[in-house]
Amino acid sequence: MSDIIHLLPDAIANQIAAGEVVQRPASALKELLENAIDAGATKVQVLVKDGGKTLVQVIDDGKGMSLTDARMSFERHATSKIKNSEDLFSIRTFGFRGEALASIAAVAQVEMRTRQKGDELGTVIHVEGSEVKKQEPAACPEGTCILVKNLFFNVPARRNFLKSNAVEMRHLVEEFQRVALSYPHIGFNMIQHDMELFQLLPGKLSQRITGVFGKSYQGQLVACQEETPHLNVKGYIGKPENAKKTRGEQYFFVNNRFIKSNYLHHAVVHAYEGLMQSEMQPFYVLFLEIDPTHIDINVHPTKTEIKFDDERTVYAVLRSAVKQALGAHVVVPTLDFSL
Ligand code: ADP
Ligand code: MG
Repeated sequence: MSDIIHLLPDAIANQIAAGEVVQRPASALKELLENAIDAGATKVQVLVKDGGKTLVQVIDDGKGMSLTDARMSFERHATSKIKNSEDLFSIRTFGFRGEALASIAAVAQVEMRTRQKGDELGTVIHVEGSEVKKQEPAACPEGTCILVKNLFFNVPARRNFLKSNAVEMRHLVEEFQRVALSYPHIGFNMIQHDMELFQLLPGKLSQRITGVFGKSYQGQLVACQEETPHLNVKGYIGKPENAKKTRGEQYFFVNNRFIKSNYLHHAVVHAYEGLMQSEMQPFYVLFLEIDPTHIDINVHPTKTEIKFDDERTVYAVLRSAVKQALGAHVVVPTLDFSL
């Protein structure tokens, strides 16, 4: 009998892992934006071409990387964000798996320029299908600029699976909007070919919302805030009269991570009961802050679901917060005492 089991070469292992992390250009954008935020960026620029199929580029003014770290960042399970298993239960960064760059570089042509504060020179590194093609010193601004070119250039089956440029572009914009909404104090812009789609200056959440959705939202927002020992809720909801027939402009962030939850959505809609027709959809951008030990974020990177220890309390607090905000919004007719 001969042995038949062998370890896969890194390049193949990375490509398999990439299938999990990078489904489409928008998933690469998500990872790059999260890395920029984790690096403490105050300004983030996004450039995309052809629905992100030929280019997704993110430029940040964050802390940058050393020469060696720039090389290391493309290794699988290489991260600066956790050290031991205890750290897993108090994650304060987006990243911690050390998988994103390795996965992206397994299925694209990646060029990264980076310079740490205080370093005179930065470094530029080219990685293609997990293979480092070259790395050399380079003059570049402080921070990191990363270009992801020709996604799935070496995996035709996956490339063919991508949707039209317009559809992929919609996913990119959606991802950009989610991140931009959750970090109003960070400046973001997004350029498609040579056209600037968003220019979002750092500011308050209300300004970010109008920056993302348009000035017409200015008069439509109702502030929502509730603090309990368990959970804090804050953000904005739309007035019942501005509710739309379609779902979409509805955002939950838990500890600043975008999540989807039909259960929590129901809590919000429930609070509108009697104020709008039941098939209407209210606008909301709501931030839930909860002790990280009471949730499980250690789920799949592309998943937007989350597990709460005590889902029912979250539901109750959220519903009460929205109800209260709406109560404060309802205009009470003033009595005319002059009669
Ligand atoms: P993770 O974010 O899970 O640690 P990544 O593959 O996304 O894994 O990144 C690997 C490492 O590369 C990060 O831990 C970080 O140290 C570094 N890195 C990635 N992107 C940036 C960036 N834009 N600025 C500074 N460091 C970065
Ligand atoms: Mg990351």
